[in-house]
Amino acid sequence: MQGPSLATGAIPTRDWMDIPVVFKEGNYAYPAKKDKVEYLNSQNGLSFPNAREWSPEDEDWKLPEGWKEIIISGLRERLAKFRSLKIFMDCCVRCGACADKCHFFLGTGDPKNMPVLRAELLRSVYRNDFTLAGKILGKMAGAREMTVGVLKEWFMYSYQCTECRRCSVFCPYGIDTAEVTMMLRELLHLVGVGINWILEPVSNSNRTGNHMGLQPHTFKDNVDFLADDVENLTGIKINHTFNRKGAEILFITPSADVFAEPGLYTAMGYLLLFEAIGLDYTWSTYASEGGNFGLFTSNEAMKKLNAKMYAEAKRLGVKYIIGGECGHMWRVLHQYMDTMNGPADFLETPVSPITGTVFKNAASTKMTHISEFTADLIKNGKLKLDKSRNSHVKATYHDSCNTARAMGLMEEPRYILDHVVDWVEMPENTIREQTFCCGSGTGLNTDEIMELRMRSGLPRANAVKHVHDKKGVNMLSCVCAIDRATLTSLMNYWNPDVRVCGISELVGNALVIDGENRAELDDGLRTMV
Ligand code: SF4
Ligand code: SF4
Repeated sequence: MQGPSLATGAIPTRDWMDIPVVFKEGNYAYPAKKDKVEYLNSQNGLSFPNAREWSPEDEDWKLPEGWKEIIISGLRERLAKFRSLKIFMDCCVRCGACADKCHFFLGTGDPKNMPVLRAELLRSVYRNDFTLAGKILGKMAGAREMTVGVLKEWFMYSYQCTECRRCSVFCPYGIDTAEVTMMLRELLHLVGVGINWILEPVSNSNRTGNHMGLQPHTFKDNVDFLADDVENLTGIKINHTFNRKGAEILFITPSADVFAEPGLYTAMGYLLLFEAIGLDYTWSTYASEGGNFGLFTSNEAMKKLNAKMYAEAKRLGVKYIIGGECGHMWRVLHQYMDTMNGPADFLETPVSPITGTVFKNAASTKMTHISEFTADLIKNGKLKLDKSRNSHVKATYHDSCNTARAMGLMEEPRYILDHVVDWVEMPENTIREQTFCCGSGTGLNTDEIMELRMRSGLPRANAVKHVHDKKGVNMLSCVCAIDRATLTSLMNYWNPDVRVCGISELVGNALVIDGENRAELDDGLRTMV
């Protein structure tokens, strides 16, 4: 707070390039454990070299011999491979339209959290080594050499960006700073600099199929427990299956939905919905994770984790996949799947077996979103819904960055809400394409940076507070598992009267099913009986 800051009004007295980063407990996420990095580096198709013990607070980060050349040649390679990166490096006119659109800047007041300056951390090195003006004019052209100080700055600020892409909505040139952050993180991994809260889930997903490292029997037990809970509450027996060859549909959701609150209630909603319509589907204990933390590390890791879902669909011989309420799973699906692993021609274009609707938007990915699927059921009158069963809820809807900005899923969740609950919108400039991030996405949902997370989540929390104070909102609904986890902490801090839920939980609450023997559920599927 003593440096240049929007919060205190202190004006910078030095050029941004001359202000070094200072690491102290609480302002950085812990580095990846050596054994996790070693494991990942030993896996086919992945490269995570230079595993070691190190700490951001140490002067010496024990970088490998020739680290600077590793970074510069890594950058050269990526400039040749990703045309978008080259364009983003060249075309920023420093208009500043993106500056105050980032929740990290709004929450911390740190100028280096302005998207334009975040990208400049990389662009300055790019200019120095890859442009004529930078080579001749140096600092006058905004160029600077790659140094240990620059590398430390990259680490600090690439992990103070949730790759939410809000800034890109406002950039007249469409510069996507999230992709710049992705490149910064990839380059840092080349010299063994990464954080544990991302690399451990990637390692677990690669090994057992899900972030927590749950083994098949544990995953199955957890879903079974949820099915038992649903039966106790509603009298409806859930007939779910695992790894069933010949099922029509493979259902994949973030593993957080089957082992952590409040996602558990979302998963109970899925189970009830599928039972209500008699869907021929199966869970998989191998593709037991929809989330893809590879997106937060490297393109190779993202590709490998995405491929697992399709390998399982092929093995089981299903027609297509329904995906649960997740954020980054859908970003990977919609932005990268086709060129990484697709098109998945061995599957069929999703067709709802209940309504006959063809999901043409999923013609190449062969994967349809649970909200699209549910909204279609409602539209065709296939669900009996009793809104009064959600009378304890006054909801609002948080557009998850990835589902809203990356895949354009904005109407279906709202259509569902209209039919299952009384709800209101948050202010216009905080929803849909302009939605504010939860503040802890891209693997930043870790407790050692809690203050930073509460700061970066402030713009979202502020909009929720508005509808809580003015309209009596007590529930923040969303369609993302990371959001369900991160928004819960955020609400506990900023708006303790507001709880967080998935849309499918509200659907499960409202569903009326033939043969049910439902107790009085004052708190819907959360009711303790
Ligand atoms: S809005 Fe776009 S062009 Fe303007 S400063 Fe930001 S990134 Fe650069
Ligand atoms: S992608 Fe999101 S977090 Fe990153 S700079 Fe842009 S607005 Fe900020």
